[in-house]
Amino acid sequence: MTVKFTIAVFEGDGIGPEITAPTVALLDALADSAGTYSFDFQPLPAGAAHYAKTGESLPASSLQAARKADAILLSAMGLPDVRYPDGTEISPQIELRKAFDLFAGVRPVRVPPGGETPLKLPEGTGIDFVLVRESTEGLFHTQGQGEVTEDEARETLLITKATCEKLFAFTFKLANERKAQGRGTGRVTCVDKANVFRAFAFFRKHFDAEAAKHPGLTADHAYVDATALWMVQKPWEFDVLVTENMFGDILSDLGAGLMGGLGLAPSADIGLHQAVFQPCHGSAPDIAGQARANPFAMILSAAMMLDWLGLKHGVEAMSRDATRLRQAVDIQVATRTDVTADLGGSASTAQAAQAIGKLLGC
Ligand code: NAD
Repeated sequence: MTVKFTIAVFEGDGIGPEITAPTVALLDALADSAGTYSFDFQPLPAGAAHYAKTGESLPASSLQAARKADAILLSAMGLPDVRYPDGTEISPQIELRKAFDLFAGVRPVRVPPGGETPLKLPEGTGIDFVLVRESTEGLFHTQGQGEVTEDEARETLLITKATCEKLFAFTFKLANERKAQGRGTGRVTCVDKANVFRAFAFFRKHFDAEAAKHPGLTADHAYVDATALWMVQKPWEFDVLVTENMFGDILSDLGAGLMGGLGLAPSADIGLHQAVFQPCHGSAPDIAGQARANPFAMILSAAMMLDWLGLKHGVEAMSRDATRLRQAVDIQVATRTDVTADLGGSASTAQAAQAIGKLLGC
């Protein structure tokens, strides 16, 4: 029997469409060869170019279709020159997080042993941890509504019990799954600033309450400033980290840096019902239209989508194909064949993606 999934696709701005097309083609080819699952891809308009044309950044019809889809695949959104009258940028990806309550921003940081990273890792050691960034509140709570007068500017940080409970339950479940798959040590670290701010002491209190329900996992705490240091000094010691929205925003780019750049950093924003899968990088207007965009972060985000759908719907072939996709990217990065300019190669976006297809035999 074949299980069919509807995937809402936002191809986005700048390099977005360039990396979306080969990723969708790869997913289709994988599904064809597995034979147990298939996709109905629904392209939906949104983004900065769409706003410039129509005055709408995320049409209600797109939002409605995305709500009904089994998963949402989103490329990069936003263009620095297209802005709302208040000076902020068009960011439908943030609107989606709020509309669908996608509280868990999952940012894997993975370098296989011997893989490319600016750090000098001990022989035979790789990096494999996941940063979970709360994505609906924290310092983003007043996004677009901050109070600005001639003399001062104010934004408000919000941490709620309801979101903490969902976030920490999700995080410990993830750590359990990683441990069961032999990928993690079962350590969960709460990253905060509880030494200075009462809001973070509150965050930590709810983390500890969830930790008490998981005696088989190790729970600990780290201040965000020290975490930035340790992510550079000994990142291989981390397994699963969970943190507030703005801290997570900053640390996830540090994580992308550990992986040899934004072109290799995937992400997922997950809620109780919907999930958005997208690369961490932006629309890279400086290289748009030149066929130089690295498609790997988008392909790795699609692998996370396969993992999530496979686990949720019990389709083993999807989890297997997610692993195969990651392994194929690892091989190409390790051998530096058919990689784009950001990884030191000369392949075009299409050539890099087609080489993945060849490695997978599809
Ligand atoms: P960016 O991530 O677009 O680019 C930063 C640098 O990384 C650039 O030099 C770019 O060429 C390079 N780069 C990024 N992705 C690449 C890829 N796949 N292959 C090769 N090189 C790549 O960040 P920016 O320049 O700060 O932002 C550009 C636009 O993207 C802005 O409008 C910003 O708001 C938006 N943005 C969107 C998202 C998102 O959709 N989630 C995230 C970040 C930025």
